[in-house]
Amino acid sequence: MFKKILIANRGEIALRIQRACRELGVQAVVVYSEADREAKYVKLAEEAVCIGPAPSAQSYLSMPAIISAAEVTDAEAIHPGYGFLSENADFAERVEKSGFQFIGPTPESIRIMGDKVSAKQAMIKAGVPCVPGSEGELPEDPTQIRRIAKSIGYPVIIKAAGGGGGRGMRVVHTEAALIHAVQTTKAEAGAAFGNPAVYMEKFLQNPRHIEIQVLADQHRNVVYLGERDCSMQRRHQKVIEEAPAPHIPRKLIEKIGDRCAAACKRIGYRGAGTFEFLYENGEFYFIEMNTRVQVEHPVTEFITGVDIVKTQIMVAAGEKLPFSQRQVQIRGHAIECRVNAEDPFKFTPSPGRITMWHAPGGPGVRVDSHAYTNYYVPPNYDSMIGKIIVHGDTREQALARMRTALGEMVVEGISTNVPLHRELMVDAKFMEGGTNIHYLEEWLAARKR
Ligand code: ADP
Repeated sequence: MFKKILIANRGEIALRIQRACRELGVQAVVVYSEADREAKYVKLAEEAVCIGPAPSAQSYLSMPAIISAAEVTDAEAIHPGYGFLSENADFAERVEKSGFQFIGPTPESIRIMGDKVSAKQAMIKAGVPCVPGSEGELPEDPTQIRRIAKSIGYPVIIKAAGGGGGRGMRVVHTEAALIHAVQTTKAEAGAAFGNPAVYMEKFLQNPRHIEIQVLADQHRNVVYLGERDCSMQRRHQKVIEEAPAPHIPRKLIEKIGDRCAAACKRIGYRGAGTFEFLYENGEFYFIEMNTRVQVEHPVTEFITGVDIVKTQIMVAAGEKLPFSQRQVQIRGHAIECRVNAEDPFKFTPSPGRITMWHAPGGPGVRVDSHAYTNYYVPPNYDSMIGKIIVHGDTREQALARMRTALGEMVVEGISTNVPLHRELMVDAKFMEGGTNIHYLEEWLAARKR
Protein backbone atom coordinates (compact mmCIF):
# COMPACT_ATOMS: atom_id res chain seq x y z
CA MET A 1 0.00 0.00 0.00
CA PHE A 2 1.09 3.58 -0.58
CA LYS A 3 2.50 5.55 2.32
CA LYS A 4 1.32 8.88 1.02
CA ILE A 5 -1.22 10.10 -1.55
CA LEU A 6 -1.75 13.55 -2.98
CA ILE A 7 -5.37 14.56 -3.58
CA ALA A 8 -5.58 16.75 -6.67
CA ASN A 9 -9.01 18.17 -6.00
CA ARG A 10 -11.05 20.34 -3.64
CA GLY A 11 -14.34 20.43 -1.76
CA GLU A 12 -16.32 17.47 -0.55
CA ILE A 13 -14.50 14.92 -2.70
CA ALA A 14 -11.11 16.01 -1.32
CA LEU A 15 -12.52 15.29 2.13
CA ARG A 16 -14.04 11.98 0.99
CA ILE A 17 -10.71 10.77 -0.39
CA GLN A 18 -8.92 11.94 2.75
CA ARG A 19 -11.27 9.84 4.88
CA ALA A 20 -10.55 6.77 2.74
CA CYS A 21 -6.81 7.37 3.13
CA ARG A 22 -7.14 7.64 6.89
CA GLU A 23 -8.99 4.34 7.07
CA LEU A 24 -6.28 2.69 5.00
CA GLY A 25 -3.53 4.17 7.16
CA VAL A 26 -2.26 6.22 4.22
CA GLN A 27 -1.13 9.80 4.70
CA ALA A 28 -3.00 12.34 2.59
CA VAL A 29 -1.60 15.55 1.15
CA VAL A 30 -4.17 18.06 -0.02
CA VAL A 31 -3.68 20.93 -2.42
CA TYR A 32 -5.63 24.18 -2.31
CA SER A 33 -6.01 27.46 -4.11
CA GLU A 34 -5.84 30.78 -2.28
CA ALA A 35 -9.66 30.80 -2.28
CA ASP A 36 -9.78 27.48 -0.38
CA ARG A 37 -7.36 28.27 2.42
CA GLU A 38 -10.19 28.09 5.00
CA ALA A 39 -11.85 24.94 3.63
CA LYS A 40 -12.49 22.04 6.00
CA TYR A 41 -10.61 19.53 3.86
CA VAL A 42 -7.51 21.73 4.18
CA LYS A 43 -7.84 22.19 7.93
CA LEU A 44 -8.28 18.46 8.52
CA ALA A 45 -5.32 17.37 6.41
CA GLU A 46 -1.94 16.45 7.89
CA GLU A 47 -0.27 18.23 5.01
CA ALA A 48 -1.52 20.92 2.66
CA VAL A 49 0.13 22.71 -0.23
CA CYS A 50 -1.08 25.96 -1.78
CA ILE A 51 -0.89 25.51 -5.55
CA GLY A 52 -1.94 28.92 -6.81
CA PRO A 53 -4.57 31.64 -6.99
CA ALA A 54 -8.34 31.15 -7.07
CA PRO A 55 -8.92 30.62 -10.82
CA SER A 56 -8.89 26.85 -11.54
CA ALA A 57 -6.68 27.31 -14.59
CA GLN A 58 -3.91 28.52 -12.30
CA SER A 59 -4.46 26.02 -9.50
CA TYR A 60 -6.58 22.85 -9.73
CA LEU A 61 -6.03 22.61 -13.48
CA SER A 62 -2.31 23.39 -13.35
CA MET A 63 -0.46 20.14 -14.01
CA PRO A 64 3.02 21.51 -13.11
CA ALA A 65 1.72 22.95 -9.82
CA ILE A 66 0.13 19.64 -8.82
CA ILE A 67 3.05 17.48 -9.85
CA SER A 68 5.55 19.66 -8.01
CA ALA A 69 3.31 19.54 -4.91
CA ALA A 70 3.56 15.74 -5.10
CA GLU A 71 7.32 15.98 -5.51
CA VAL A 72 7.96 18.27 -2.56
CA THR A 73 5.76 16.18 -0.25
CA ASP A 74 7.11 12.78 -1.35
CA ALA A 75 3.69 11.45 -2.29
CA GLU A 76 3.65 8.17 -4.20
CA ALA A 77 0.28 8.41 -5.90
CA ILE A 78 -2.18 11.06 -7.07
CA HIS A 79 -5.96 10.78 -6.72
CA PRO A 80 -7.69 13.14 -9.17
CA GLY A 81 -11.25 13.01 -7.73
CA TYR A 82 -13.88 14.11 -10.27
CA GLY A 83 -13.94 17.13 -12.58
CA PHE A 84 -10.74 19.18 -12.99
CA LEU A 85 -7.96 16.91 -14.32
CA SER A 86 -9.65 13.60 -13.50
CA GLU A 87 -10.40 12.67 -17.11
CA ASN A 88 -7.39 14.31 -18.70
CA ALA A 89 -5.26 11.62 -20.33
CA ASP A 90 -2.28 13.98 -20.68
CA PHE A 91 -2.35 14.59 -16.95
CA ALA A 92 -2.48 10.86 -16.17
CA GLU A 93 0.47 10.39 -18.50
CA ARG A 94 2.49 13.19 -16.92
CA VAL A 95 1.75 11.84 -13.45
CA GLU A 96 3.09 8.42 -14.42
CA LYS A 97 6.08 9.82 -16.34
CA SER A 98 6.99 11.80 -13.23
CA GLY A 99 7.14 8.56 -11.29
CA PHE A 100 3.80 8.67 -9.45
CA GLN A 101 0.91 6.22 -9.61
CA PHE A 102 -2.22 7.72 -11.11
CA ILE A 103 -5.26 6.50 -9.14
CA GLY A 104 -7.42 5.74 -12.14
CA PRO A 105 -7.24 3.94 -15.45
CA THR A 106 -4.31 4.03 -17.87
CA PRO A 107 -3.86 7.17 -20.00
CA GLU A 108 -4.82 5.07 -23.05
CA SER A 109 -8.16 4.03 -21.52
CA ILE A 110 -8.89 7.63 -20.57
CA ARG A 111 -8.02 8.77 -24.09
CA ILE A 112 -10.29 6.24 -25.78
CA MET A 113 -13.22 6.93 -23.44
CA GLY A 114 -12.65 10.69 -23.37
CA ASP A 115 -13.41 10.89 -27.05
CA LYS A 116 -17.06 9.94 -27.31
CA VAL A 117 -16.67 8.77 -30.89
CA SER A 118 -13.85 6.33 -30.11
CA ALA A 119 -15.62 5.30 -26.88
CA LYS A 120 -18.73 4.38 -28.82
CA GLN A 121 -16.72 2.44 -31.36
CA ALA A 122 -14.98 0.52 -28.58
CA MET A 123 -18.34 -0.28 -26.98
CA ILE A 124 -19.90 -1.47 -30.23
CA LYS A 125 -16.91 -3.82 -30.63
CA ALA A 126 -17.36 -5.05 -27.05
CA GLY A 127 -21.03 -5.83 -27.63
CA VAL A 128 -22.44 -2.98 -25.49
CA PRO A 129 -25.66 -1.61 -27.06
CA CYS A 130 -25.35 2.03 -28.23
CA VAL A 131 -27.75 4.76 -29.40
CA PRO A 132 -28.23 4.38 -33.18
CA GLY A 133 -26.21 7.06 -34.91
CA SER A 134 -23.48 8.05 -37.34
CA GLU A 135 -20.55 5.71 -37.74
CA GLY A 136 -18.03 7.93 -36.04
CA GLU A 137 -17.40 11.60 -36.78
CA LEU A 138 -19.73 13.41 -39.20
CA PRO A 139 -18.28 14.13 -42.64
CA GLU A 140 -18.00 17.69 -44.06
CA ASP A 141 -20.33 17.13 -47.01
CA PRO A 142 -23.86 18.47 -46.27
CA THR A 143 -25.47 15.94 -48.61
CA GLN A 144 -23.89 13.09 -46.71
CA ILE A 145 -24.88 14.62 -43.37
CA ARG A 146 -28.50 14.88 -44.55
CA ARG A 147 -28.39 11.29 -45.72
CA ILE A 148 -27.14 10.10 -42.31
CA ALA A 149 -29.85 12.05 -40.46
CA LYS A 150 -32.51 10.65 -42.74
CA SER A 151 -31.38 7.07 -42.17
CA ILE A 152 -31.35 7.59 -38.38
CA GLY A 153 -34.70 9.41 -38.46
CA TYR A 154 -35.57 12.76 -36.83
CA PRO A 155 -35.23 14.06 -34.18
CA VAL A 156 -31.46 13.66 -34.02
CA ILE A 157 -28.91 15.08 -31.61
CA ILE A 158 -25.56 16.51 -32.69
CA LYS A 159 -22.91 15.87 -30.06
CA ALA A 160 -19.32 16.99 -29.67
CA ALA A 161 -16.82 14.11 -29.57
CA GLY A 162 -14.91 15.98 -26.86
CA GLY A 163 -17.99 17.25 -25.00
CA GLY A 164 -18.71 16.89 -21.30
CA GLY A 165 -20.64 18.37 -18.43
CA GLY A 166 -23.81 18.50 -20.47
CA ARG A 167 -22.32 20.93 -22.98
CA GLY A 168 -21.79 20.62 -26.72
CA MET A 169 -25.12 19.09 -27.73
CA ARG A 170 -27.90 20.25 -30.04
CA VAL A 171 -31.21 18.60 -30.87
CA VAL A 172 -32.45 18.86 -34.46
CA HIS A 173 -36.06 18.20 -35.38
CA THR A 174 -36.14 18.95 -39.11
CA GLU A 175 -33.86 18.68 -42.12
CA ALA A 176 -34.12 22.46 -42.65
CA ALA A 177 -32.34 23.09 -39.35
CA LEU A 178 -29.73 20.33 -39.73
CA ILE A 179 -26.71 21.84 -41.46
CA HIS A 180 -26.78 25.06 -39.46
CA ALA A 181 -26.98 23.06 -36.21
CA VAL A 182 -24.02 20.89 -37.21
CA GLN A 183 -21.94 23.96 -38.06
CA THR A 184 -22.81 25.79 -34.86
CA THR A 185 -22.08 22.75 -32.69
CA LYS A 186 -18.75 22.23 -34.49
CA ALA A 187 -17.71 25.84 -33.92
CA GLU A 188 -18.75 25.70 -30.26
CA ALA A 189 -17.00 22.38 -29.72
CA GLY A 190 -13.80 23.70 -31.27
CA ALA A 191 -13.84 26.71 -28.97
CA ALA A 192 -14.91 24.89 -25.81
CA PHE A 193 -13.12 21.53 -26.08
CA GLY A 194 -10.36 22.20 -28.61
CA ASN A 195 -11.87 19.52 -30.82
CA PRO A 196 -14.45 20.43 -33.48
CA ALA A 197 -15.40 16.80 -34.26
CA VAL A 198 -19.12 16.07 -33.87
CA TYR A 199 -21.24 12.98 -34.34
CA MET A 200 -24.95 12.28 -34.64
CA GLU A 201 -27.31 10.14 -32.62
CA LYS A 202 -30.99 9.40 -32.63
CA PHE A 203 -32.56 11.73 -30.07
CA LEU A 204 -34.44 9.49 -27.69
CA GLN A 205 -37.69 11.19 -26.68
CA ASN A 206 -38.35 10.10 -23.11
CA PRO A 207 -35.43 8.06 -21.81
CA ARG A 208 -34.18 7.60 -18.29
CA HIS A 209 -30.51 8.01 -17.40
CA ILE A 210 -29.27 4.74 -15.92
CA GLU A 211 -25.61 4.08 -15.23
CA ILE A 212 -23.58 1.04 -14.21
CA GLN A 213 -20.72 1.34 -11.70
CA VAL A 214 -17.70 -0.88 -12.35
CA LEU A 215 -14.51 -1.61 -10.45
CA ALA A 216 -11.51 -3.37 -11.99
CA ASP A 217 -8.14 -4.38 -10.60
CA GLN A 218 -4.86 -4.92 -12.44
CA HIS A 219 -5.32 -8.71 -12.44
CA ARG A 220 -8.25 -8.81 -14.89
CA ASN A 221 -10.88 -9.01 -12.17
CA VAL A 222 -13.91 -6.83 -12.87
CA VAL A 223 -17.17 -6.41 -10.99
CA TYR A 224 -20.18 -4.19 -11.52
CA LEU A 225 -21.92 -2.72 -8.50
CA GLY A 226 -25.43 -2.47 -9.82
CA GLU A 227 -26.95 0.64 -11.32
CA ARG A 228 -27.91 4.20 -10.45
CA ASP A 229 -30.84 6.19 -11.77
CA CYS A 230 -29.77 9.79 -12.46
CA SER A 231 -32.76 10.92 -14.49
CA MET A 232 -33.59 13.91 -12.29
CA GLN A 233 -31.57 16.48 -14.25
CA ARG A 234 -31.65 20.14 -15.10
CA ARG A 235 -29.73 21.27 -18.15
CA HIS A 236 -28.22 17.79 -18.44
CA GLN A 237 -26.84 18.17 -14.90
CA LYS A 238 -27.80 15.62 -12.28
CA VAL A 239 -29.72 16.88 -9.24
CA ILE A 240 -30.97 13.69 -7.52
CA GLU A 241 -29.62 10.16 -7.90
CA GLU A 242 -30.82 6.86 -6.55
CA ALA A 243 -30.04 3.17 -6.52
CA PRO A 244 -31.41 0.74 -7.50
CA ALA A 245 -33.33 2.23 -10.43
CA PRO A 246 -37.08 1.87 -9.76
CA HIS A 247 -39.13 -0.54 -11.86
CA ILE A 248 -36.34 -2.03 -13.98
CA PRO A 249 -36.27 -5.85 -13.91
CA ARG A 250 -33.14 -7.22 -12.16
CA LYS A 251 -32.58 -9.57 -15.09
CA LEU A 252 -32.10 -6.63 -17.47
CA ILE A 253 -29.66 -4.93 -15.10
CA GLU A 254 -27.67 -8.12 -14.71
CA LYS A 255 -27.47 -8.55 -18.46
CA ILE A 256 -26.18 -5.03 -19.07
CA GLY A 257 -23.91 -5.18 -16.02
CA ASP A 258 -22.27 -8.34 -17.34
CA ARG A 259 -21.74 -6.63 -20.71
CA CYS A 260 -20.05 -3.67 -19.00
CA ALA A 261 -17.76 -5.94 -16.98
CA ALA A 262 -16.89 -7.90 -20.13
CA ALA A 263 -16.13 -4.64 -21.98
CA CYS A 264 -13.76 -3.61 -19.16
CA LYS A 265 -11.90 -6.89 -19.46
CA ARG A 266 -11.65 -6.47 -23.18
CA ILE A 267 -10.15 -2.99 -23.02
CA GLY A 268 -7.92 -3.76 -20.03
CA TYR A 269 -9.71 -1.25 -17.84
CA ARG A 270 -8.54 -0.67 -14.27
CA GLY A 271 -9.98 1.34 -11.40
CA ALA A 272 -13.49 2.72 -10.95
CA GLY A 273 -15.62 3.65 -13.91
CA THR A 274 -19.20 4.32 -14.94
CA PHE A 275 -21.03 3.29 -18.07
CA GLU A 276 -23.81 5.77 -18.75
CA PHE A 277 -26.90 4.62 -20.61
CA LEU A 278 -30.18 6.02 -21.76
CA TYR A 279 -32.98 3.56 -21.03
CA GLU A 280 -36.17 3.58 -23.05
CA ASN A 281 -38.85 0.94 -23.67
CA GLY A 282 -36.87 -1.74 -21.90
CA GLU A 283 -33.65 -1.14 -23.88
CA PHE A 284 -30.29 0.27 -22.80
CA TYR A 285 -28.28 2.57 -25.07
CA PHE A 286 -24.70 3.44 -24.12
CA ILE A 287 -23.90 7.16 -24.29
CA GLU A 288 -20.54 7.55 -22.57
CA MET A 289 -18.12 6.21 -20.00
CA ASN A 290 -16.73 8.19 -17.08
CA THR A 291 -13.25 7.01 -16.14
CA ARG A 292 -13.28 8.31 -12.57
CA VAL A 293 -15.20 8.32 -9.32
CA GLN A 294 -18.55 10.09 -9.64
CA VAL A 295 -20.36 12.56 -7.44
CA GLU A 296 -23.16 10.03 -6.93
CA HIS A 297 -20.93 7.10 -5.86
CA PRO A 298 -22.32 7.10 -2.26
CA VAL A 299 -25.71 5.68 -3.27
CA THR A 300 -23.91 2.63 -4.62
CA GLU A 301 -21.76 2.43 -1.49
CA PHE A 302 -24.93 2.38 0.60
CA ILE A 303 -26.67 -0.43 -1.29
CA THR A 304 -23.59 -2.63 -1.77
CA GLY A 305 -21.55 -1.86 1.34
CA VAL A 306 -18.48 -1.42 -0.89
CA ASP A 307 -16.21 1.56 -0.24
CA ILE A 308 -15.56 2.66 -3.81
CA VAL A 309 -12.88 5.23 -3.01
CA LYS A 310 -10.92 2.88 -0.78
CA THR A 311 -11.12 0.17 -3.43
CA GLN A 312 -9.88 2.64 -6.05
CA ILE A 313 -6.78 3.23 -3.95
CA MET A 314 -6.28 -0.48 -3.23
CA VAL A 315 -6.41 -1.52 -6.88
CA ALA A 316 -4.13 1.36 -7.88
CA ALA A 317 -1.61 -0.04 -5.41
CA GLY A 318 -1.81 -3.37 -7.25
CA GLU A 319 -4.07 -5.21 -4.81
CA LYS A 320 -6.71 -7.64 -6.00
CA LEU A 321 -10.39 -6.77 -5.72
CA PRO A 322 -11.34 -8.12 -2.29
CA PHE A 323 -14.66 -9.58 -3.50
CA SER A 324 -16.14 -11.28 -6.55
CA GLN A 325 -19.27 -10.51 -8.54
CA ARG A 326 -21.17 -13.21 -6.67
CA GLN A 327 -20.39 -11.53 -3.37
CA VAL A 328 -21.92 -8.24 -4.48
CA GLN A 329 -25.33 -8.05 -2.82
CA ILE A 330 -27.79 -5.23 -3.28
CA ARG A 331 -29.50 -4.23 -0.04
CA GLY A 332 -32.25 -1.66 0.32
CA HIS A 333 -32.51 1.66 -1.46
CA ALA A 334 -30.42 4.85 -1.43
CA ILE A 335 -31.13 8.40 -2.58
CA GLU A 336 -28.77 11.37 -2.94
CA CYS A 337 -29.70 15.05 -3.09
CA ARG A 338 -26.99 17.42 -4.28
CA VAL A 339 -26.90 20.57 -2.17
CA ASN A 340 -25.99 23.54 -4.35
CA ALA A 341 -25.29 27.12 -3.33
CA GLU A 342 -27.92 28.61 -5.62
CA ASP A 343 -31.40 30.02 -5.66
CA PRO A 344 -33.68 26.95 -5.35
CA PHE A 345 -35.98 27.89 -8.21
CA LYS A 346 -34.14 30.53 -10.26
CA PHE A 347 -30.78 28.74 -10.04
CA THR A 348 -28.67 31.88 -9.82
CA PRO A 349 -25.44 31.05 -7.96
CA SER A 350 -25.32 32.11 -4.32
CA PRO A 351 -21.73 32.16 -3.09
CA GLY A 352 -20.80 33.89 0.16
CA ARG A 353 -20.48 33.31 3.89
CA ILE A 354 -22.50 30.52 5.52
CA THR A 355 -23.59 32.00 8.84
CA MET A 356 -25.24 28.80 10.07
CA TRP A 357 -24.73 25.21 8.91
CA HIS A 358 -26.49 22.34 10.57
CA ALA A 359 -26.30 18.95 8.89
CA PRO A 360 -28.87 16.19 9.49
CA GLY A 361 -28.09 12.85 11.12
CA GLY A 362 -29.73 9.66 12.32
CA PRO A 363 -29.87 6.11 11.02
CA GLY A 364 -29.10 5.69 7.33
CA VAL A 365 -28.14 9.33 6.80
CA ARG A 366 -24.81 10.41 5.37
CA VAL A 367 -23.70 13.96 4.64
CA ASP A 368 -20.61 14.49 2.49
CA SER A 369 -19.67 18.14 2.65
CA HIS A 370 -16.74 20.45 3.23
CA ALA A 371 -19.00 23.25 4.49
CA TYR A 372 -19.49 24.42 8.09
CA THR A 373 -20.76 27.45 10.00
CA ASN A 374 -18.75 30.51 8.97
CA TYR A 375 -17.41 28.81 5.82
CA TYR A 376 -17.12 31.15 2.85
CA VAL A 377 -18.35 29.58 -0.41
CA PRO A 378 -15.98 30.96 -3.05
CA PRO A 379 -17.57 32.12 -6.30
CA ASN A 380 -14.84 30.51 -8.39
CA TYR A 381 -15.99 26.89 -8.52
CA ASP A 382 -18.91 24.55 -8.99
CA SER A 383 -21.91 25.48 -6.83
CA MET A 384 -22.20 22.05 -5.17
CA ILE A 385 -21.38 22.39 -1.47
CA GLY A 386 -22.44 18.97 -0.28
CA LYS A 387 -24.58 15.91 -0.68
CA ILE A 388 -27.19 14.33 1.54
CA ILE A 389 -27.43 10.60 1.04
CA VAL A 390 -29.91 8.29 2.76
CA HIS A 391 -30.42 4.54 2.88
CA GLY A 392 -33.54 2.56 3.76
CA ASP A 393 -34.75 -1.01 3.52
CA THR A 394 -37.20 0.11 0.85
CA ARG A 395 -37.53 3.12 -1.44
CA GLU A 396 -40.42 4.37 0.71
CA GLN A 397 -38.24 4.30 3.79
CA ALA A 398 -35.39 6.04 1.96
CA LEU A 399 -37.81 8.76 0.82
CA ALA A 400 -39.10 9.21 4.38
CA ARG A 401 -35.53 9.46 5.67
CA MET A 402 -34.63 12.00 3.02
CA ARG A 403 -37.66 14.11 3.95
CA THR A 404 -36.59 14.01 7.60
CA ALA A 405 -32.98 14.81 6.71
CA LEU A 406 -33.94 17.73 4.48
CA GLY A 407 -36.20 18.98 7.26
CA GLU A 408 -33.22 19.08 9.64
CA MET A 409 -30.83 20.70 7.18
CA VAL A 410 -30.16 24.34 8.04
CA VAL A 411 -28.05 26.62 5.87
CA GLU A 412 -28.15 30.35 6.56
CA GLY A 413 -26.35 33.27 4.96
CA ILE A 414 -26.57 31.93 1.41
CA SER A 415 -29.35 30.34 -0.65
CA THR A 416 -29.34 26.62 -1.37
CA ASN A 417 -31.54 24.27 -3.36
CA VAL A 418 -32.71 22.43 -0.22
CA PRO A 419 -36.25 23.89 -0.63
CA LEU A 420 -36.37 22.42 -4.16
CA HIS A 421 -35.43 18.98 -2.82
CA ARG A 422 -38.07 19.25 -0.09
CA GLU A 423 -40.77 19.81 -2.73
CA LEU A 424 -39.49 17.03 -4.98
CA MET A 425 -39.49 14.46 -2.17
CA VAL A 426 -43.26 14.85 -1.81
CA ASP A 427 -43.99 15.01 -5.53
CA ALA A 428 -46.40 12.23 -6.49
CA LYS A 429 -44.65 11.30 -9.77
CA PHE A 430 -41.19 11.24 -8.23
CA MET A 431 -42.52 9.16 -5.36
CA GLU A 432 -43.87 6.63 -7.88
CA GLY A 433 -40.37 6.34 -9.34
CA GLY A 434 -39.17 5.97 -12.90
CA THR A 435 -39.45 9.59 -14.08
CA ASN A 436 -37.57 10.38 -17.31
CA ILE A 437 -34.75 12.87 -17.98
CA HIS A 438 -37.18 15.67 -18.87
CA TYR A 439 -39.34 15.36 -15.80
CA LEU A 440 -37.54 17.84 -13.55
CA GLU A 441 -37.50 20.60 -16.18
CA GLU A 442 -41.17 20.03 -16.99
CA TRP A 443 -41.97 20.09 -13.29
CA LEU A 444 -40.07 23.38 -12.87
CA ALA A 445 -41.88 24.93 -15.84
CA ALA A 446 -45.27 23.85 -14.45
CA ARG A 447 -44.38 25.18 -11.00
CA LYS A 448 -43.72 28.64 -12.43
CA ARG A 449 -47.18 28.86 -13.96
P1 ADP B 1 -21.99 14.80 -21.00
O1 ADP B 1 -20.67 14.12 -21.14
O2 ADP B 1 -21.91 16.24 -21.40
O3 ADP B 1 -22.64 14.56 -19.68
P2 ADP B 1 -23.75 12.76 -22.23
O4 ADP B 1 -23.45 12.10 -23.52
O5 ADP B 1 -23.51 11.96 -20.98
O6 ADP B 1 -22.93 14.15 -22.15
O7 ADP B 1 -25.23 13.28 -22.22
C1 ADP B 1 -25.74 14.06 -21.15
C2 ADP B 1 -27.25 14.08 -21.17
O8 ADP B 1 -27.75 14.57 -22.43
C3 ADP B 1 -27.90 12.73 -21.00
O9 ADP B 1 -28.01 12.36 -19.63
C4 ADP B 1 -29.25 12.99 -21.65
O10 ADP B 1 -30.05 13.75 -20.74
C5 ADP B 1 -28.93 13.88 -22.83
N1 ADP B 1 -28.66 13.10 -24.06
C6 ADP B 1 -27.46 12.74 -24.55
N2 ADP B 1 -27.59 11.98 -25.69
C7 ADP B 1 -28.91 11.87 -25.92
C8 ADP B 1 -29.71 11.20 -26.94
N3 ADP B 1 -29.17 10.51 -27.94
N4 ADP B 1 -31.07 11.31 -26.84
C9 ADP B 1 -31.65 11.99 -25.83
N5 ADP B 1 -30.96 12.64 -24.85
C10 ADP B 1 -29.61 12.59 -24.88
